[in-house]
Amino acid sequence: MPIGPPSDPPVSISLSTLVRQLRAGQVTVWRGPAQRAHPQAPRIAIAELAAARERMERFQPVLRRLFPQSDWDGRVRSALLDCPIIPAGIGSLRIKADHALPMTGSIKARGGIYDLLCRIERIALAEGLVAEGGDYLALTESEAKRALGRHRIVVASTGNLGFSIGLAARAFGLAAQVHMSHDAKRWKKDRLAALGVEVVEHPFDYSRTVLAAEASARAAGDDFIDDTSSRDLMIGYALAGDEVIAQLAEVGVVPSTERPLVVYLPCGVGGAPGGVTFALKERLGAAVHCVFVEPVASPCMMLALANGGVPAAVYEYGLDNNTIADGLAVPVASDLVLDIVGDLIDAVVAVPDRTMLEWVARAWREAGLRLEPSAAAALAAVTPFVEAAPHLREAVHVAWATGGSLLPDGEFAALLRAADESVHHTS
Ligand SMILES: *Cc1c(COP(=O)(O)O)cnc(C)c1O
Repeated sequence: MPIGPPSDPPVSISLSTLVRQLRAGQVTVWRGPAQRAHPQAPRIAIAELAAARERMERFQPVLRRLFPQSDWDGRVRSALLDCPIIPAGIGSLRIKADHALPMTGSIKARGGIYDLLCRIERIALAEGLVAEGGDYLALTESEAKRALGRHRIVVASTGNLGFSIGLAARAFGLAAQVHMSHDAKRWKKDRLAALGVEVVEHPFDYSRTVLAAEASARAAGDDFIDDTSSRDLMIGYALAGDEVIAQLAEVGVVPSTERPLVVYLPCGVGGAPGGVTFALKERLGAAVHCVFVEPVASPCMMLALANGGVPAAVYEYGLDNNTIADGLAVPVASDLVLDIVGDLIDAVVAVPDRTMLEWVARAWREAGLRLEPSAAAALAAVTPFVEAAPHLREAVHVAWATGGSLLPDGEFAALLRAADESVHHTS
């Protein structure tokens, strides 16, 4: 039986019903698409994606030299894996293995690093460290590093963005100041401090940390990378769209409205899933369904969409933003992301911490994948989504594994123990 274009109309569920389910900690599915009342920002142009791809090519030899650990070729790309574990309700699943991306072990190696490279290139051209069309390997020489060291990059993070920007900024010789929200894990802070990054620890959430970081950057005249409002960041993430389409084509899969692609994208502020969604919709139109995934305690994108595209803090709905998924612990969705892709998001699934942990354990034991809870969320969302959209059971399902390969052994073992304990608790 062909599975068609949206044969069943979206079941709209009221905001108050959503909130009741979320507050009870239940898996919750919102289906769109939403209408955004007043989009402010221009969409991303295809020409911007082409320019971004060229920029990444210019930096490829530089990244390879600065991160020589493995036999990496300097291209930021991840594998598309067949997944031996298949969530109930579907026929097959593939994993986009961004958890194993070089440099940072998370999807931030796309957007975060791209935004940083844009800034480095601007400085380098302005100060004559490289010439337009020249050899960018000059950036790895000590003279260029000394010049870049006079600049400081400031960023706010729940962990992975700061970790990624800090790591890469130091590799280029830049000074870096990373403001961490209370969600950030100790090992990420320690690792950055060891690299000479100034880590500022805040006792509050991500949204307030962004404000503190911005104020600090403004006072010192530093460059501030803000993933709640950066187009460059989204463009960096968007490059993953063509990458995954080409990988599917290599195995003979071309999404169509008869057999569409469904991608499950973990969402914090929305930049990463938003960038990927923009590119996939641009290329595939109705042949792709983009499903964002959030923790039940931090469903900032779901609430914004259900509320007509207007972001509000999850606290206002009686939710506490307290989740094991540090990569997704964001109380307010990005306005820029809502402007650019708010009306393109097909669904949002909110999952409880317990289910994420369960999938951390299954991904490891049954597929050998080291995922952090934020990434395992994508796997946790598959069954609830197809239950809400049964006409998409036979679609091509891709769960975006957004991070985790760099988790230290001790951290990972603790997650597996927590998963076992939560099974005992609920059985
Ligand atoms: C940052 C991050 C996300 C979500 O990205 P946003 O741009 O904040 O929406 C998802 N998973 C992991 C592991 C991340 O680090």
